[in-house]
Amino acid sequence: MKIGIVGIGLIGASLGWDFRQMGHQVIGVSRQLATCETAEREGICDRASCDLASLRATEIIFICTPIAAIVPTIELLIPHLDPATIITDAGSVKGAIVDRATELWPNFVGGHPMAGNSESGIAAFEKGLFADRPYVLTPILQTAPVALERVAELVRSLNCMIHYATPVQHDLAVAWISHLPIMVSASLIDACLHEADPTILDFAKKFASTGFKDTSRVGGGNPEMGMMMAEHNRDALLRSLYQYRDRLDMVIDSIETKQWTEIKDLLSTNQAIRPDFINCSALEQDA
Ligand code: NAP
Repeated sequence: MKIGIVGIGLIGASLGWDFRQMGHQVIGVSRQLATCETAEREGICDRASCDLASLRATEIIFICTPIAAIVPTIELLIPHLDPATIITDAGSVKGAIVDRATELWPNFVGGHPMAGNSESGIAAFEKGLFADRPYVLTPILQTAPVALERVAELVRSLNCMIHYATPVQHDLAVAWISHLPIMVSASLIDACLHEADPTILDFAKKFASTGFKDTSRVGGGNPEMGMMMAEHNRDALLRSLYQYRDRLDMVIDSIETKQWTEIKDLLSTNQAIRPDFINCSALEQDA
């Protein structure tokens, strides 16, 4: 298959590498010539250029730009494409994208690979990044069934676990497990930095080990992406943040009133339930 990728950063380059390994032809588009050269040299793309017209003969195009650039990129692509071309995206938010993109291009299928790391750009690409990870497809009533099936088939070949959800369901769910953790983790780092005693702050930095490394990882990642999640999934994120604040207030209350059994019960429940979040992606599920 001839596959196009726009935005050869972490996600686009990782997709390109995997697709090429499977024998597909990959044509990349970046705004930077240096990125195109790297993409060809590293075997991420067969050909890469700054010209969207180079995607004219591709069958499926993955838009892997930042969220705010996805719909504008489709607008720029349209004059160059055959109407049979399928467009999909990798954006971490779907409600802000899918309706408008489908209006613009009936062969559009919303997608979100649930894989990544805290780096960005082509240098951060990872081979086999998507294997054994969830990949959410977000069809709406207007989504062309053939386009959905072709994207699903291609994504499945990355050894992903495909899940189907509406854009609204997707955005509410990722607010809990992706966007809320970024804001909580960022607030954790920020709270530490506001320690008034410089000696304590200095010790905290020196003593920090695996626990802080785990809990601060997502809050110390790509700032542009975190900001775009807040901007483009604002309502769902606020819904989760308000509920999180309520739960935090309950924990504070339990500690202030020395309800140690309540704290232990909470931690015991969490210890038992956490694997449901970490291991529940073994089967394909319809949401
Ligand atoms: P990234 O590493 O920053 O790559 C995005 C690429 O898009 C950049 O390398 C840049 O390449 C290009 N770009 C930047 N601004 C653009 C613009 N205004 N117009 C056109 N192209 C532009 O980001 P990423 O982590 O791969 O994320 C890409 C998409 O995947 C985002 O929509 C994100 O929400 C989603 N996603 C990310 C993750 C993750 O963990 N990182 C996981 C799942 C989904 P050039 O400057 O070379 O053009």
